[in-house]
Amino acid sequence: MTEKLYWADATALAFETTGAVLSTHDDRTSIVLPRTLFYPEGGGQLGDAGTLAIGEVELSVVDTQIDGDGAIHHVLGAPLQGELAARFREGAAAALPVRGSLDRARRRDHMAQHTAQHALSRALADRAKADTVSARLGASLCTIDVNRPGIANQDLHQAEDLVNAIVMDDVAVTTSFPSAEELATLSLRKQPNAEKSAKGVRVVTIEGFDVTPCGGTHCTRTGQIGQVRIVGTEKYKGMLRVSFHGGARALSDARFRHQALLEISTELTCGPHDALGAVLKLRAEAKGAREKLDGARAELAELLAQRVREALPQAPGPHVVHLARPHDDLAALRVLAGKLTEDARVVALVGGHDPGSGETVLVVQRGAGGKLDCGAFVSAEGKARGGRGGGRPERAEGRFPRGTSIEVLATAASVALANSLPS
Ligand SMILES: [Zn+2]
Repeated sequence: MTEKLYWADATALAFETTGAVLSTHDDRTSIVLPRTLFYPEGGGQLGDAGTLAIGEVELSVVDTQIDGDGAIHHVLGAPLQGELAARFREGAAAALPVRGSLDRARRRDHMAQHTAQHALSRALADRAKADTVSARLGASLCTIDVNRPGIANQDLHQAEDLVNAIVMDDVAVTTSFPSAEELATLSLRKQPNAEKSAKGVRVVTIEGFDVTPCGGTHCTRTGQIGQVRIVGTEKYKGMLRVSFHGGARALSDARFRHQALLEISTELTCGPHDALGAVLKLRAEAKGAREKLDGARAELAELLAQRVREALPQAPGPHVVHLARPHDDLAALRVLAGKLTEDARVVALVGGHDPGSGETVLVVQRGAGGKLDCGAFVSAEGKARGGRGGGRPERAEGRFPRGTSIEVLATAASVALANSLPS
């Protein structure tokens, strides 16, 4: 079992030892040491990274894990090769001096997120009657699952205010291994489980605020957290998942959101506080405009269909009718195809233009008396002409390369129709 030096001092960043053993963890090469400052992933906290200098060779540690026997594995970025690998094979590496150095920024970030989690869990219990069931401290987002399906915004804000007041008070964060008798007198936020060790239960105390068993690495004072911000909630398996950022992450996230709001309000030519009102007004205007456009399209489609019907021969059909509508989008083409095929004899091909891709967009629809299998036709033409599409026998849609002529497709439809009719 590896001695956990990080329990005595979470702020220490370098240590020296000997007795390195070459090992593996989940098929990755690792180094096991008799003692280490590297925190292994666990308790919701990610493992440390850094370097191990063994003799003259410096190795990159990309992750730290602990196995079932309590051995802490410094997982290497690449398999060990060269002279040092030979020293391990010969059994001569254990005598080499080892100097371990932590990735400071990563460790400091983990400490800030972890301490923020303790404080926020307490604040959520105090202000929102929401007890923490589990917590995860990820590389980009931290979450706490609480035993309530929802929390009112004002309660979340109160919890956020409380935890930031504790941060600003800069109170001490201490760790201890109380005796069983002492432990029984403590008002623990949660019951101890995996934090038990040979020394007993490790307890982390935020002075005057929170006492909880934990084996992780924490700030030594709450001021080191900087700030804590709740950034979202979502329902999760009957609980509520609260997302938060602590420390430098909280600042960079706030900066990102602030910048986004500034750019939006500049675009809307209003102040940040008026941006929501401006967006809602725009949406209402867009909805009204869309309704007017739909009405105008239906009217236009009716007029176009009427003109086409008047030009149709008296013969019983079927008649293939095509219309190129370069400025119409798919929604308008569908309306037009529907109107045209109110005459049961009509097989309609209406083509538009996708301004984004430049492709020709096609809707093919047959009237009630039509015989063309529209889906099969569009699918076959798509394959033949480098396009794609398909649909039902009654109606189908496709996309064809830029410049594909609707007239040519209509001729192909006439041929397909003639082939499908009994001669
Ligand atoms: Zn902790």
